Amino acid sequence: MGRFQIDSLFAEEKNNQETQCNHVLQVAFQSAADTEFDYLVPDQLWPIQPGQRIEAPFGRKNKLEVGFCVDITGQWPGPSTPLRSAQDDKKRKFKLKKISKVIDKEPLIDLQLMELARWISGYYVCPLGQVLAAMVPGAVKKGAGLRTQTCIYLAASDNGTTEQLKGKKQRQVVALLQEQNASSVGSALDLHEILDTADCGRDCIKKLAEKQIIKLHQKAIFAALPAIPKGMFIKAEAVVLNEDQRKALSHINARIDSGKFCVTVLHGVTDSGKTELYMRAIEAVLQKGRGAIVLLPEIALTAQTVQRFGARFKKIAVMHSGLTAAQRNVQWQKIKSGEANVVIGARSAIFAPLSNVGLIVVDEEHEPSYKQDTAPRYHGRDVAIKRAQLADAHCILGSATPSLETLANCQSKKYFGLVRLPKRVMNLPMPEMKLVDLRDEPLTHNGVNLISEPLGERLKEILAKNEQAILLLNRRGYSNFVFCPSCKYTLHCRNCDVTLTFHKSDFARSSHLRTVTGKHIDYGYALCHYCLAQTLVPQTCPLCGKGMAMIGLGSQRLEEELSKKFPQACVARIDSDSMTGRDYYRVLKDFGDGRIDILAGTQMLAKGLHFPNVTLVGIISADTSLYLPDFRANERTFQLISQVAGRAGRSAKKGMVFVQTFLPNQPAIQFALHADFDGFVKEELKHRRACNLPPFWRLAAIIMRDMHFDKLDVACKRMRERIDIIVERDGLKALVRGPMPAVISRIQRFHRMQIIIQTPEAAVMQRLFAGLRAQPTIRPAVKVAIDVDPVNLL
Ligand code: ADP
Ligand code: ZN
Repeated sequence: MGRFQIDSLFAEEKNNQETQCNHVLQVAFQSAADTEFDYLVPDQLWPIQPGQRIEAPFGRKNKLEVGFCVDITGQWPGPSTPLRSAQDDKKRKFKLKKISKVIDKEPLIDLQLMELARWISGYYVCPLGQVLAAMVPGAVKKGAGLRTQTCIYLAASDNGTTEQLKGKKQRQVVALLQEQNASSVGSALDLHEILDTADCGRDCIKKLAEKQIIKLHQKAIFAALPAIPKGMFIKAEAVVLNEDQRKALSHINARIDSGKFCVTVLHGVTDSGKTELYMRAIEAVLQKGRGAIVLLPEIALTAQTVQRFGARFKKIAVMHSGLTAAQRNVQWQKIKSGEANVVIGARSAIFAPLSNVGLIVVDEEHEPSYKQDTAPRYHGRDVAIKRAQLADAHCILGSATPSLETLANCQSKKYFGLVRLPKRVMNLPMPEMKLVDLRDEPLTHNGVNLISEPLGERLKEILAKNEQAILLLNRRGYSNFVFCPSCKYTLHCRNCDVTLTFHKSDFARSSHLRTVTGKHIDYGYALCHYCLAQTLVPQTCPLCGKGMAMIGLGSQRLEEELSKKFPQACVARIDSDSMTGRDYYRVLKDFGDGRIDILAGTQMLAKGLHFPNVTLVGIISADTSLYLPDFRANERTFQLISQVAGRAGRSAKKGMVFVQTFLPNQPAIQFALHADFDGFVKEELKHRRACNLPPFWRLAAIIMRDMHFDKLDVACKRMRERIDIIVERDGLKALVRGPMPAVISRIQRFHRMQIIIQTPEAAVMQRLFAGLRAQPTIRPAVKVAIDVDPVNLL
């Protein structure tokens, strides 16, 4: 039951007398109010279903706000019964406000998705209205690309009332409509075609409409979907499954046949034929008349993968960031109308309006990009499992390096099953792994060479054979430290607690910067990767007046070094500075077609790409992810090396992987080099258990921020007090740490503090947050973000 909007009684009362309202519904607003409200529905707006959006006056000022109808609460004023409760009487005391408009003709959210939304709202501690708003793409809400077409049809069955028809043109139009049986909205004909064929003017149509002989209808039509950028041609060839694949498939099929919810974890090395199995499983559910959703990390949603699915399934819808708003809307409508029964998309495709979901696949389930970093801070994989459960569907989690959480679930949950594909298909050998100890590399003017000697030699060889290479450097920009060598002053962001990254501009050249050894470098600017503030680099150190220098790594510097050392090779850089959405898909196509020799970039490159001609992969610095201030740093490093390695030698040509590091003995790097997943897991779990970290315990972070530190400090302490009180009152087993400065203690001039909560079980965490949520906003009010199961601590 929602809360009531209390307002000036008299004004409302007068209003309510004017319109009849026989129904009450519950509204969740998109604005951040963490509760639902009851509203009256004027009879002329009835019926309304949950999942439709409405507009209603909200707050003291009765500002019109958009919200979702989430429930039909009942009749108003309802049958009077002698057993009226005190609650009812209280309700009667206040007048409810009325909704003013219904926005959607049809619900955007069906009942199952509504239930999912309620779960997300509870589990991830986010207002229901905000969850619902996030479930429907903006393009759909705005009706992007939606056009209308005027159609006409015959009004009544006895349309032969020829006496009324004046002139040849009018008779011709009616004859045309009769000929085509256009006698209802469904069979209405395009007005323009009629005008053309009958060669008449709009006047003629207008007269016919006035005489009620024909009717006009505005039909919604969608802009045609321009094809997804074409990649390499992919044949839907029938492959014969190998022994491991057959075993895995029969496990999956048995689960699908059971018609019950369960999860299969498909742990298969890269190129072991996982995608092939996803497609077989989809075929199985389609045969049962159900649909499937496939989630991929955004970046794996290349033309290649999409076309592979497209070659196999006809009724497919795709959702990724390479689509225009209009295309996105078309895809959504295709799913909603049942025209598509297979959906492929990134994280948010888990909310696709597909009815009768029989299978949900989450590929690369360990990917941190499945976690949304704004509210609702949901994890796509975990929502997938929940949706599968609500739909009695099967869920497949695939990965070469399953997350420790998923592995733990295989141990502890009855409905989880684990199957393995330990070998590459066709028994292709795993690529050869080479470690390059950067400590042995000679120093140059910029510090160390980004391309070590062994890597450089190998690059030369493969380029000579017309093969391709992928080089990975997990840091954008040119250099991430701009500093003064004499007094060690480092350029920091004035808004955030981070060092600035130097980005070179391609246009201008100036010469006031030099490297450690005094060489001049090009003109550019220093950029903060958190608030995007830009500054010019000072000519001299503001503290001691000596010249500034820069060290550190960046993908721009890599690109520069490559073009110097391999001037004949065509190099392209992929990172979020150099491209967005559609550009990215274009570069991948060029690479696939062989127009690019070396693809360099950030970890965007590590996932899901399949280029048979790539025989060399270089990880420029395997250490970058190890220095992350996050307990998953080891896991990320292991995953990164294994994933990138999987990009090499995906055909009969043998692949090689160079891993450059200053820490050659670090366990995560060693285990990854030897492709020893089990060894890594065992080692890492020891550490996690000792520290009460996931997957053993649950984690949540409360991040609070404000411009004024004193105010923030007070609010954080109050939050901590409240948590302590709830923990004590409910006897919860929980470790609470903080308030303490967040890893990055200032972003965009906001000071940031965090409180970290650890509980042995999810349910305990839920009780704690339910308790917190029931309390009023902390004063002084500061911005609070709650991150349940965080994947990054920032
Ligand atoms: P993964 O998803 O594990 O990386 P894929 O399913 O993409 O692996 O398979 C890699 C390649 O091998 C694809 O081109 C696929 O068509 C092919 N393939 C998969 N299974 C077989 C098989 N049993 N026999 C021959 N080729 C196969
Ligand atoms: Zn900043």
